[in-house]
Amino acid sequence: MHRTLGYRLPTNHPRFAINIARMVGGLWGHVRVVDPLENIKDQNMRRQLLLIRSNTGSVIESRELRDLLMGFRGQKGIYKPSRSSHALWVRETLRGPYPDREPEVFPDGSWIYHYTPEGRKGKTDMDLDTNRSLLMCIEDRVPVGVLRQRIAKPGESSYEVLGLAYVTGFDGTHFILKGEPIKWDEDPVAGRTVPAFQPFEQESLLRLETLRTQRDMRFGVAVRRAYNEKCSMCEVGYRVHGRIVGLEAAHIIPIENRGTSLDVRNGILLCRNHHILFDEYAWVPDEDLRVLVTADDEFRASAAANCILECEGRRLPNLPPKMDLLPAVEALRYRLDKFRDA
Ligand SMILES: [Zn+2]
Repeated sequence: MHRTLGYRLPTNHPRFAINIARMVGGLWGHVRVVDPLENIKDQNMRRQLLLIRSNTGSVIESRELRDLLMGFRGQKGIYKPSRSSHALWVRETLRGPYPDREPEVFPDGSWIYHYTPEGRKGKTDMDLDTNRSLLMCIEDRVPVGVLRQRIAKPGESSYEVLGLAYVTGFDGTHFILKGEPIKWDEDPVAGRTVPAFQPFEQESLLRLETLRTQRDMRFGVAVRRAYNEKCSMCEVGYRVHGRIVGLEAAHIIPIENRGTSLDVRNGILLCRNHHILFDEYAWVPDEDLRVLVTADDEFRASAAANCILECEGRRLPNLPPKMDLLPAVEALRYRLDKFRDA
């Protein structure tokens, strides 16, 4: 069967259609992006990996995935196309035989996920084709797609696309998968080092323009994961049919001031309501992440029904559990200055 893979996208991300068309050629307009996927010779594999990458953070129904992804119809854990020596994707099912561990998120948007190898009769067997194909991914630095089931009701199964990950090793019981950072166009660093916070974008304006959509999407996904998918202020986190709705990653140093989209520490996850008020400088977190509200009487009267006034003077109730994902002090100071000038 001829597959027209790679260009069917979930309806909630129509804007990526254009970017994907550009990415396939490795070009963003006329700006060349160095992308590790360009080294993958097999066109089908490359298109499939690009498809997975462009859907990072989306929740997609199984019946749609069966049309989009090679092997999804029949294969459970690890999928290796028959003509490839590398695995293409791995998936974790709810109620699967293996314990599920949450991915560990890093400030650059990358993550580490432990994936159990396949076994025979309850025992891990590293000679299985599937496990060997993941070992080949380590050797050749070929990434795999990672999917995690979110809903497992009959007729209503769906998966979250965690994204692309490099298999960085095998620790004796698990494969260690390191997810692509927000800045996917460079080889991700293995391990857990936390880089220094770079508050401003370093790219030229032209290049930034062409990268913007993709980066903002990836920034949004990374911030959402860091805040456990709940508004930092009111802790709202809606999920409808498996999809997260109404949550937005706000930039602390705004984009128009060249604030970075490459680091979770320039972000804060807010519901739409609190994001609008943040953008309008109705409130700001101080350096200790306590809520400061504008003295504007009219705003305060109009916000009587909003929990914002109850939060005033208190630390934001929902923050990343990991210290190194908290907003950077440098970014908070920048925002505070703008709040005072507003
Ligand atoms: Zn909120």
